[in-house]
Amino acid sequence: IRVVALEAQPEDVAVEAALRPRSLTEFIGQERVKEILRISIEAARNRRETLDHVLFFGPPGLGKTTLARIIAGEMGVNIRITSGPAIERPGDLAAILTNLAPGDVFFIDEIHRLSRPVEEILYPAMEDLALDIIIGKGPAARSVRLSLAPFTLVGATTRAGLLSSPLRDRFGLIIRFDYYTPQELSEIITRAAGLLDVRITAAGAAEIARRSRGTPRVANRLLRRVRDYVQVRGEGTVTEEAARAALDFLGVDELGLDEADRRLLTTLIERFGGGPAGIETLAAATGEEVVTLEDVVEPYLMQAGLLARTPRGRVATLLAYRHLGVAPPAREGM
Ligand code: ADP
Repeated sequence: IRVVALEAQPEDVAVEAALRPRSLTEFIGQERVKEILRISIEAARNRRETLDHVLFFGPPGLGKTTLARIIAGEMGVNIRITSGPAIERPGDLAAILTNLAPGDVFFIDEIHRLSRPVEEILYPAMEDLALDIIIGKGPAARSVRLSLAPFTLVGATTRAGLLSSPLRDRFGLIIRFDYYTPQELSEIITRAAGLLDVRITAAGAAEIARRSRGTPRVANRLLRRVRDYVQVRGEGTVTEEAARAALDFLGVDELGLDEADRRLLTTLIERFGGGPAGIETLAAATGEEVVTLEDVVEPYLMQAGLLARTPRGRVATLLAYRHLGVAPPAREGM
């Protein structure tokens, strides 16, 4: 398991619950997202209506679930949390929908993974607060329309393009989450250190922030690993030096890359002359799955300016050569 994994690991669950911000004011960063939500929430509250359905998209660990909880809190309603793969049959979804109280927030993580029949139940529910169910079998079967209490669906996905367009079109708000800046991550780390009773210097927080891949979940996890390292060494405070030593020890480099990232870049450079190389080829050569490379490894490498996507495949940038300490080939257009 990668220490920089974007998905929550079993060890993360309890700590994440303790560290989760509870209000828009406590939620650090994503200023544009918060502004959109603040306005929409206030407008809905003034009209005494439920909030429009919201789609969040962006890499894992950026606070989508946290913000869905905050929306429910700000609207003064309950939240029901599930995920696309967890809703197996249309009946499962119908059961959840009919149990929502008026105004509730219904959060579906990985909403792009809903099956087709389940997704089709969702269309009339989102649009007309209607649930179409079939009663009986064969020629006697007939469709009955039940009405649902008003609710707000909050869907989360890594890329908006993964959703079918009929589903995407039914969201009133479609909001992109960006990676956090090192400054925002420093704030998040400092806040978490306070809650976890870890002494940390500003430079120590900044060092962890730089290596956290723009992702609060990773930042919180690295903070805990660094804390362990510091405690075992008998030091009381996370300083810049301690953070650097601990993260080097964990194999997380100055740009937040771990073994898997460096393997991808090294393979691309050493075996494919820096590219272009197709994603399937790279997956085979590194022993990773294509989806893992596309959804987990690549986005951060591209964001960090180390990898470029071209129509003919992936290309290592000059920065990647420099970062790995490899001399770039004398090639035009690099
Ligand atoms: P996602 O749903 O996008 O995968 P989560 O909402 O589960 O991400 O966030 C992962 C963890 O990171 C949260 O439990 C929380 O502790 C922390 N976190 C996320 N965003 C923020 C933020 N803006 N400020 C502080 N902590 C955050």
